[in-house]
Amino acid sequence: MIRADCLIVGAGISGLTAAQTLTERGKRCLILEKSRGVGGRMATRRTADAVFDHGAQFFTARSQPFQQMASRWLQQGAAREWSRGFPDPEGSSPEEGHPRYCGVGGMTAVPKALAVGLDVRRNTKIVAARIDEGEWVLTSETGERFAGAHLLLTAPVPQSLTLLEGCAYPIPAERLDALRSVRYDSCLAALLTLEGASGIPEPGAVSFREGPIAWIADNHQKGISPLATAVTVHASPELSLALWSAPEEVALREIRAASDRWLGSAVREAVLHRWRYSKPAFSPFDAPLHLAGPPSLTFAGDAFGAPRVEGAALSGLIAAQLLSGYGQDV
Ligand SMILES: Cc1cc2nc3c(=O)[nH]c(=O)nc-3n(C[C@H](O)[C@H](O)[C@H](O)COP(=O)(O)OP(=O)(O)OC[C@H]3O[C@@H](n4cnc5c(N)ncnc54)[C@H](O)[C@@H]3O)c2cc1C
Repeated sequence: MIRADCLIVGAGISGLTAAQTLTERGKRCLILEKSRGVGGRMATRRTADAVFDHGAQFFTARSQPFQQMASRWLQQGAAREWSRGFPDPEGSSPEEGHPRYCGVGGMTAVPKALAVGLDVRRNTKIVAARIDEGEWVLTSETGERFAGAHLLLTAPVPQSLTLLEGCAYPIPAERLDALRSVRYDSCLAALLTLEGASGIPEPGAVSFREGPIAWIADNHQKGISPLATAVTVHASPELSLALWSAPEEVALREIRAASDRWLGSAVREAVLHRWRYSKPAFSPFDAPLHLAGPPSLTFAGDAFGAPRVEGAALSGLIAAQLLSGYGQDV
């Protein structure tokens, strides 16, 4: 059994931010992540010669605490400013707005920088959370066990609730109803490698308010795919829902047809990524849910802030503040 003060499920931006803050305050944190890499929905995929940001495309920093975090990533060379806005499909240039930042070399640069020095157990999918003699015990898919006095869940809420099924932890009924009411949009992402240049205008992305496509970006222009034109297309929530169960080739055909005008060159390779939980579409929460216990149970992530990178990071920061103010031991 591996022990820590605080067990954190998920190495997305919220879990990593919480862990970094708690670690700075001298707490021992263990982050358990089911994927091979860190970052969650801040995701970058590399193929033979192409690089795609296929989840979050950029982030803004509107609040002072998150501006401080973003400044640190800029200084470290993990993030840079991409643009001050993106054109719409009619070609109208955006008003000069607040900075849109991206990761250097891909969005995962930011979570990778955050993870340095933290104890992240990758390839560790947690399948159950139980209470044993007053503390949390998590079990992984391969039977590893992790124990701690505090549990922070940062996965999309339906996934976090699955871990607690059959667990005797007393979540008040109205809080449980609120957790169960959280809804997410799904998003189908087409990752297209082109033979030549794309027709996507500067600074390498178009943002859509309506229609079958929500976003299209040229990762070569963005500066993360130097060797190939790698285009990310996000289908709208409506089209993603309509095509969710379709075979990959059918979904890709529909998304390619809807984005044809912007491609400008023949498609050499096409891959589909399905984001089941893309962004929260409804949440009754505007802050992390913290149940003091003992043992304590805290929910964080973008459903407990705002549906974007900044909201997720701030939820992790607030969760860490709640946890470090709790009791004598954490
Ligand atoms: C297609 C798409 C486009 C987006 N575009 C933008 C954008 O342009 N700008 C913006 O600001 N935001 C954008 N977002 C939203 C942004 O990515 C999220 O709000 C943010 O990254 C969420 O971070 P998180 O830490 O809350 O969750 P996640 O990043 O989802 O992290 C949760 C982690 O938990 C892990 N996990 C889940 N279950 C388990 C388990 N049982 N055991 C162990 N680990 C587990 C997951 O693997 C994941 O790494 C986009 C999201 C998507 C999907």
